[in-house]
Amino acid sequence: MNNLKQQSVLVLGAGLSGIAAAQLAAREGARVTLLDEALPEKLAAVFQVLEGEGICCRAGWRESSWQEAVSLAVISPGIRPGSTLGQLAAGLPCPVISELAFGARYCHCPLLAITGSNGKTTTVEMLTLCLNAAGVKAIAGGNIGLPLSQLALQAESWDYIVVEVSSFQLEHAEGFQPAAAALLNITPDHLDRHGTFENYRNLKLKLLQQTQENAPLVLKAELLRDRVIAGMLKKHSLITFSAEPGQLARYACNETAIGRSTTDGFQPLLYFQELAFSGHHNYENAMCVLALLEQLPVDQEKARLALSQFSCGHHRLEKVAEIGGVAYVNDSKATNVDAMIKALEYCGDKKAKKIILIAGGVDKGCALDEAKSSLKMYVKQVLLIGECKQRLAREWQEEVAVLECPDFNTAMTAAVATAREGDTVLLSPGCASFDMFRDYGHRGQSFVQFVEKLKKESEK
Ligand code: ADP
Repeated sequence: MNNLKQQSVLVLGAGLSGIAAAQLAAREGARVTLLDEALPEKLAAVFQVLEGEGICCRAGWRESSWQEAVSLAVISPGIRPGSTLGQLAAGLPCPVISELAFGARYCHCPLLAITGSNGKTTTVEMLTLCLNAAGVKAIAGGNIGLPLSQLALQAESWDYIVVEVSSFQLEHAEGFQPAAAALLNITPDHLDRHGTFENYRNLKLKLLQQTQENAPLVLKAELLRDRVIAGMLKKHSLITFSAEPGQLARYACNETAIGRSTTDGFQPLLYFQELAFSGHHNYENAMCVLALLEQLPVDQEKARLALSQFSCGHHRLEKVAEIGGVAYVNDSKATNVDAMIKALEYCGDKKAKKIILIAGGVDKGCALDEAKSSLKMYVKQVLLIGECKQRLAREWQEEVAVLECPDFNTAMTAAVATAREGDTVLLSPGCASFDMFRDYGHRGQSFVQFVEKLKKESEK
């Protein structure tokens, strides 16, 4: 139902995505109501503007049902299924679609969708940079930058939109059909919302399953070892990548380069020493980008040159300083265990335990076992913070020395006192930040500020 003239549309959630969806529905001629559970004071300013645009806004919503006739409901990614608005959505007799799927209907250019548990933002940024360098006009959107509904509202047009897709956005995303899709990896995350790993995995796979007929599907080769995954995908469109030695994949690595497997062997495309980024996880992200680029009619050489110059965003394994021979690394964006393991592998030294790790925060209900061997191999001391520090201490204390800290500054002070020349103090929490910080950026910034102060004191 793309024609919304005179239709009644209900939008659930007045965050950035919901507001943009409400405005888009109004532009398309619908009668729009926007609901949010937040108190009216919080939304007063923005609701005043929206009311001026003819959108009926209601804050402080507490009812889990809706009595008026509605032809379509659009749900924001922030709405949890068990919340008041989530329950309201479940009881509606009309179609309910996610903001992602709704916005996509009105974006008139090919959408290149990227999902995965880790590496989405990095890969989306890489691909967007490459496309623009190759002379086509691309913008990143979805879970990064602007929601698709916002992009659809703009007068500007693009050759491609590179869409970062989160698992939250894939709830109710039926009808979202990108022109190409990539799945970087699937490891446990957000189980507090999705309930089981199977539910979470199936949401991610849904993206690949519902992609346009014959559209390229890029994925990490190791995922096909899972028979359920292999059985769910249209094999003819698959393009695989893997940084693991010996894996059969179209994009792979040897000791010196990322390249493409050919019938004659291996064709190097990007030499490690020429890259502005490093780490096997980032090589995988780059392979995913090369695989997508190969499918597009763009100047491949220009695109590859741009890719080689890409550097990762803040809070992703970012070296902040070296003080007295100790490296301080901010990986605040590691909000799940797999990203934390990648950080330990990246910073670690197999010969000696040289990492002092700061971990903890909000528990997302995921298993912690996977981290044990890396903790044992690389970590001298773990300093635990946040809501789930007791659970982490219980689970890890047999593998590694753990210390529960009352707050972030105490953890940092203990890290500095423990570190010796040649060590790395690593903030890679493996958990969400919302118990102690506004978001991962605020947590990373707190680390940076502490380290900068320490550096100044050391220079006195
Ligand atoms: P996302 O948008 O999926 O959260 P980011 O690119 O922001 O991904 O990176 C989040 C965290 O995951 C960072 O700690 C980063 O070092 C790590 N990471 C990046 N790419 C990968 C990957 N391919 N596999 C595992 N971890 C990764």
